[in-house]
Amino acid sequence: MPLHDALLRWFDRHQRDLPWRQAKEPYPIWLSEVMLQQTQVATVIPYYRRFLARFPTVNDLANAPLDDVLSQWKGLGYYSRARNLHRAAKAIAEKHHGQLPSTAVELLELPGFGRYTAGAVASIAFNQPVALVDGNVARVLARLYAVEGATGEKLREAKLWAKAAELVSLERPGDWNQALMELGATVCLPKGARCGECPVRDECQAQATGRVEAIPAPKVRAPRKALRWAVAFCERDGKLLLGQRPAKGLFGGLWELPSAELAAKSTAAAALTKLFGKKPRTLTRLGKTHRTLTHRELTLEVYRVQLTGAVAAGAYQALEWVPHAEVSKRGMSTAMRSALDDVLTSSGKSRKPAGARAR
Ligand code: SF4
Repeated sequence: MPLHDALLRWFDRHQRDLPWRQAKEPYPIWLSEVMLQQTQVATVIPYYRRFLARFPTVNDLANAPLDDVLSQWKGLGYYSRARNLHRAAKAIAEKHHGQLPSTAVELLELPGFGRYTAGAVASIAFNQPVALVDGNVARVLARLYAVEGATGEKLREAKLWAKAAELVSLERPGDWNQALMELGATVCLPKGARCGECPVRDECQAQATGRVEAIPAPKVRAPRKALRWAVAFCERDGKLLLGQRPAKGLFGGLWELPSAELAAKSTAAAALTKLFGKKPRTLTRLGKTHRTLTHRELTLEVYRVQLTGAVAAGAYQALEWVPHAEVSKRGMSTAMRSALDDVLTSSGKSRKPAGARAR
């Protein structure tokens, strides 16, 4: 097939030298695929190396406390990926003797494995002829075969998966899938596609009809939801009060300064009284931090809060007084760490070495 020969030959010569491409074991390949979802290659590389150094095998990951895993993940975002990775490692350790299963059907049974990840691991790690479609592959296939529609549209996605399944190489499925992704990442770019350098331009319908920039149609994004939290900075005897969020939902499983959502007409005093089940003895405003998340605009209004006696954990999994020196070891979202660093810096207690914030 000229398309396969041309693309695989190009991949053999032009693929980037990425650390997971030297991996022989399925585990690092799986890890890289999880990290690369929603995160750029350049950002992933140091995290990938640190994570593998800390958890070299599936069993090491399975046996580690979730907090250690989240701590290694901090700054990468989308923490549900880390929680699912940990849950899947436990399932692999218990049910598969620490070895990843080799078929997409079995992989799909594991937490966090969707169609893409199962296809990636089965094809790249086990050479199974299973297709995958990620953002890069979708764009390449949509342009090659003039598949119309916007990113995320169900009918378009179904057509692209069908096309990917029809095309997957029987001899080199892992390389074929990676070649499509590599072409999308380095040549068939969302804007400014380098068609002059493309090994499959003779086969490309978008190129032939002058519709490269029009395919895919831009995604219609829902506006981000504005969220405002009152955040309590509570110190007692050299310790800081931290709460661990429920496992599911925004920042699931992460630690944070105890926080309460501020409804439109609510005050920080009322929201924090409800959170702790008691009225704070004092409440002093310290500052404000703003972060843009994928689906939310998050504003953290931080207050120094004095509480007396014991406090209830409320919606948190746990509420703990943590010594200042231990706080950095708790997995915390980048937004919350930023708010905490601002408070500590302005109070002259900064524990943040230059460049410590991941992004
Ligand atoms: S010719 Fe251009 S649009 Fe078509 S696949 Fe190659 S880079 Fe993409």
